[in-house]
Amino acid sequence: MSTTYRLGVLEGDGIGAEIVPSSVEIATAAARATGVSVDWVPLPLGATAIASHGTPVPEETKEALAGLDGWFLGPHDSVSYPEPHKSALNPSGTLRKHFQLFANIRPAKSFPGAKAVCDSADLVIVRENTEGFYADRNTYAGTGEFMPTRDTAIMMGIITREATERVARVAFDLARSRRKKVTIVHKANVLKLTTGLFRTVCQEVAEEYPDVAVDDFHIDAMTVHLVRRAQDFDVIVTENMFGDILSDLAGEISGSLGTAPSINASATTAMAQASHGSAPDIAGQNAANPVAMILSGAMLLEWLGAKHGDEALGAAAQLMQTAVADTIAAGTSTRDLGGSASTTEFTAAAVKTIGATGQS
Ligand code: ATP
Repeated sequence: MSTTYRLGVLEGDGIGAEIVPSSVEIATAAARATGVSVDWVPLPLGATAIASHGTPVPEETKEALAGLDGWFLGPHDSVSYPEPHKSALNPSGTLRKHFQLFANIRPAKSFPGAKAVCDSADLVIVRENTEGFYADRNTYAGTGEFMPTRDTAIMMGIITREATERVARVAFDLARSRRKKVTIVHKANVLKLTTGLFRTVCQEVAEEYPDVAVDDFHIDAMTVHLVRRAQDFDVIVTENMFGDILSDLAGEISGSLGTAPSINASATTAMAQASHGSAPDIAGQNAANPVAMILSGAMLLEWLGAKHGDEALGAAAQLMQTAVADTIAAGTSTRDLGGSASTTEFTAAAVKTIGATGQS
């Protein structure tokens, strides 16, 4: 008996209204071609939810998400929200925290035929998602930042053994299915207790994986190594803020931030979310690159396929990835990759590729 997967669709802000429908269109085509049944469930989030529900992440959205198999999350432009929403934990942070999506998995891979600083990069950043130097993840209430005087601001960073161990295991398991190398990124020469603990716990977990090679770098040195020799890295594991910064860099080096996908996962739930933000500078122009969001969707289908032992989901994910790569290789890409296609033109070309592949 075939399963129908129920997936949430949360467009979010800025280019979300362009790239999320694109990713849903391509996932729908891939699902149809591989016999996967998907029920799409649109839910309010972001500025439109503030207008309709008075909050960027309505309770009804959280309740509905809890009953779904996963969801596609568009970017948010929380700095443009009116107070008090602007100062509160942003929508993706809220969902990561609420559902304890502790592992943010961010691949950076170059596409044949697309311009890139490093055209042979193929790495994955595994970013701890629930604590670290993102102060707003570290409190039950409040944002983890406070100002005792007008001229003094204090933030709180937290690293725990438990959170580090679970994200390290995700990184080492992933490395086993790839080139068997993990790089731990920290700043243990200065932040000795916090990132020192992160490094130590990752190294302890590494002992359980004698078949995986391990090295480690300070975050500042790592930016240099990435620019010089991104192709040498396989899996990189790091804390929350370092991972956020490093993954923008890795995405851009391997092509464009517009091609950098991610999922946020716990052991039981996953959320597809492009690594980039809402790109307000190009929103509404039909110019955004939908690739990161499409590939994030493919990662979610792959994750679900592994969870349910459903090979058809894996095939649908593969079809989405191939459609994107083939479309770019055939010369259709958006401006950020040096092409001239609009978001909708790229989407139509990729859907056509899936149609052709699905029929063959
Ligand atoms: P956030 O903090 O929410 O992640 P950000 O400040 O890092 O956001 P982005 O919104 O990611 O900023 O945009 C950074 C730059 O990358 C902008 O110039 C934007 O136009 C570009 N960019 C981001 N995503 C895309 C995309 N999908 N297609 C094309 N350009 C993009």
